[in-house]
Amino acid sequence: MASYAYFEGQIVPLEEAKIGVMTHAFNYGTACFEGIRGNWNAEHEQIYLFRPKEHFERLRKSCKILKIGWRWDIDELVSITQKLVQLAEYREDCYIRPLAYKSGHIIGVRMHGIQDDLLMFTSPFGAYLDVDEGARCQTSSWRRVDDLGIPARAKVTGIYVNSALAKTEANENGFDEAIMLTHDGHVSEGSGENIFIVENGKLITPPNHDNILVGITRSSVIELARRELGIETIERAIDRSEMYTADECFMTGTAAHVTPVIEVDRRPVGDGLCGPITKQIKDLYFQACFGSLPEYAHWCVPAYDQVGVAVQRAGQTAGAD
Ligand code: PMP
Repeated sequence: MASYAYFEGQIVPLEEAKIGVMTHAFNYGTACFEGIRGNWNAEHEQIYLFRPKEHFERLRKSCKILKIGWRWDIDELVSITQKLVQLAEYREDCYIRPLAYKSGHIIGVRMHGIQDDLLMFTSPFGAYLDVDEGARCQTSSWRRVDDLGIPARAKVTGIYVNSALAKTEANENGFDEAIMLTHDGHVSEGSGENIFIVENGKLITPPNHDNILVGITRSSVIELARRELGIETIERAIDRSEMYTADECFMTGTAAHVTPVIEVDRRPVGDGLCGPITKQIKDLYFQACFGSLPEYAHWCVPAYDQVGVAVQRAGQTAGAD
């Protein structure tokens, strides 16, 4: 199955999308990106892109922080995304990676006065963490980057060195995922996920100013919990030890979906299984993002023509229109 990329203003086979070694973003981490899931619904013969506009909107904000002049139309970016998925003819879950980057071939550490561009590529993408079994987590010895270091609300490629250090440390210590604290010791988030605890039937999650990436899955879960289950979410600082005593804990993210956290620092969360509220939220979220909850259809943008994949496929060639 061939994948395609949108590169330098054109759709090309993925292997033709190449950047030069002097590219500023490659040397200095001066790029920002998004991860969008395409969720395959076999019954509907459809891939639903989950909240793509919100992802492009967050990309626009990240660009502002990196001084990448925004000149793209979000509806147009959504149609390019659809086109890339259609060309690849995925019939499985996939992932779309838009990336805005300093494309100039320039040596010099700075944000200003460097050419920039936007590219996108797609890839098949299965499970990231075990959403059924849940994840065993470790509090990282690495602290989450601070807004005064690299603004965490921007999804900057360079920040992911911080996430990768934490993830590898956790994996090498035998855990599935890392949980990073802020410099003042509050729970911030996982290496690629936001975190929630459940306490006395309420959801609690760190506030934006605890250096989280303001997650789109996070806000979807907050809305589903409130509207469908009547459960409010409190956004407040969370101490490390609150994760040990919480009734339940889970992580949210485009890659991770809703993943129960069943253990933190070798202590079972609750009774060490996916908790009942987590289960309800997880089920609702999966129904919503796979296009099975009509009330949330506005979150799901079909990648294929409504009449079905088979029709959409006829006559598709790379670079068409
Ligand atoms: N935090 C970090 C560091 C992430 O990389 C991600 C994944 N994009 C998230 C949180 C979750 O954000 P979202 O739900 O928008 O994918």
